[in-house]
Amino acid sequence: MFKLNNSFQTFFGVKMNDLFIIKFGGSSITKKADNKFEMNEKILKQSAKELSSAMKQKKMQIVLVCGVGPFGHTNVKLYDLNNGIKTDEQMKGVEKTNKDCNFVGESTAKALEKEGIKTKLIPGYEVCKQNNKKIVEYDFAPYEKALKEGFVPISTGIMVPDIELKWSVMSGDKVIAQTAKHFKPKMVLMGTDVDGIYTADPKVNPKAELIDEITRANVPKILEKVGESKSVDVTGGMKGKLEQLSEQLNGTPAEIFNLFTKGNLEKVLLGKKIKDTKIKL
Ligand code: ADP
Repeated sequence: MFKLNNSFQTFFGVKMNDLFIIKFGGSSITKKADNKFEMNEKILKQSAKELSSAMKQKKMQIVLVCGVGPFGHTNVKLYDLNNGIKTDEQMKGVEKTNKDCNFVGESTAKALEKEGIKTKLIPGYEVCKQNNKKIVEYDFAPYEKALKEGFVPISTGIMVPDIELKWSVMSGDKVIAQTAKHFKPKMVLMGTDVDGIYTADPKVNPKAELIDEITRANVPKILEKVGESKSVDVTGGMKGKLEQLSEQLNGTPAEIFNLFTKGNLEKVLLGKKIKDTKIKL
């Protein structure tokens, strides 16, 4: 008998195309550092071109996750959406946030479609339910259907129904962790606005050094040092990212790299060496 779910890449013993789960970090595809409700069209276009070029050179399947930067974090702070939804005003805030987060997904989809990639937007609130900010249900069927039909499914950080809090934040990093656990991809690739994980926040501490490799052995020590995001970030920045990954990767290799550096995305997808942090947990 074959098992489709947890061995999605194996079908009747035949290895399917390599599956990559990619994150376009909010810090790279939005103006997160300036706290502006704007896409970084230049990086989005560059990333879409590189993705398309890599997909033409090698058969691969992609699940794409977008960080939303200010479109999520700033709204959540502004409308006080991180500790339960109790008022009409907050509910309006949830609607505004999700409209804005969908805008990030739609803008990304548009950029990919321009490069000839077929996309399918999957809003988190359609597939995920939380209780007290913890995921209790996640429906992967829409992703499987999209992949089977040759689409790149795209999900963003967004607010989802929550049993206790009514609505709560589900970050792009959580989507990464969930989909990685389920699909067991060849690799998880996380594009951000710095070269990887450093010994301290490189935007604050010029002496911070890039960590080449994070393993089970050094992760607790690194977690002690790694800071949160310098920009408005309600989901924990680099530290939150590493915590999510360390719980859910289960042996799937991950690389955190700079999406601003031209060529990085294409190279990493084609298995070429780039400057980054490799995670093997
Ligand atoms: P994204 O929005 O791309 O998912 P985040 O904003 O959550 O990324 O995290 C990236 C930011 O984390 C960087 O811009 C950097 O300023 C900050 N940061 C804090 N500590 C570190 C660290 N130790 N190494 C790398 N980046 C760090």
